Amino acid sequence: MSVSEIAKRIAKNVLNSGLQAAFPPGCLKCGDPLEGPGSLCNICWPQMTFISEPCCETCGFPFEYSPTTSLICGNCLRKAPSFSKARAVLKYDAACRDMILAFKHADQTRNAPAFAKWMHRAAQELIDDCDVICAVPLHPFRLHWRRFNQSALLTRELALLSKKPPIPDLLFRKRPTRSQGGLNASARRRNVQGAFAPNPKRLSHLENARVLLIDDVLTTGATVEACSKALLNAGAAKIDVLTLCRVVRTPSLAI
Ligand SMILES: [Zn+2]
Ligand SMILES: [Zn+2]
Repeated sequence: MSVSEIAKRIAKNVLNSGLQAAFPPGCLKCGDPLEGPGSLCNICWPQMTFISEPCCETCGFPFEYSPTTSLICGNCLRKAPSFSKARAVLKYDAACRDMILAFKHADQTRNAPAFAKWMHRAAQELIDDCDVICAVPLHPFRLHWRRFNQSALLTRELALLSKKPPIPDLLFRKRPTRSQGGLNASARRRNVQGAFAPNPKRLSHLENARVLLIDDVLTTGATVEACSKALLNAGAAKIDVLTLCRVVRTPSLAI
């Protein structure tokens, strides 16, 4: 990064923190003033699609109606994932896209506590059932550029709410992977295959541990599948996955 780029980033961060101090957080989506932080206004709230039952018992894919035969979706029946259960709070769609992208890419980190509260409420069973909480890691290059890992922020906030121990660096990326945006399911799988490994300094936390893996968006599940395999190979007893949102149909939206 050049000196002028670093200066620009510092100036932007100073400006952002100044703005956040001057204008207390409003609606998580549109920013309109609200009485308390960490909520959505009356216009934005009904636009969101919160995921609820009935859904696939394994991957959390929401069903439009209660199936009479199996509560496992076709994808999970064809090939069971390595993780035991995945759950998400929101359907990733046009209504929540800007809010999520701002959190991922535009320093809207102040929204992490509110998002974690939603996740905590939506997946109490998964949280109660875990020994440690960890995050899908960014590669150090990307972490350096972004300054923060949004999944690690959610992990820390969830740990505060649940009193479960957070280990945000339980996994690391062995190699940089290209962004999953614009890739189809099989390309996403190839892109992240073997990309994750457990942190050698944290191996003692993994032995027979029930791990809750946190990410911001679940798209095809390729990333959390690759992470789950790495954790299970290193001795974890089982992996559950909790994300802020998930794609419900093949997305035409870039993530
Ligand atoms: Zn709003
Ligand atoms: Zn499923």
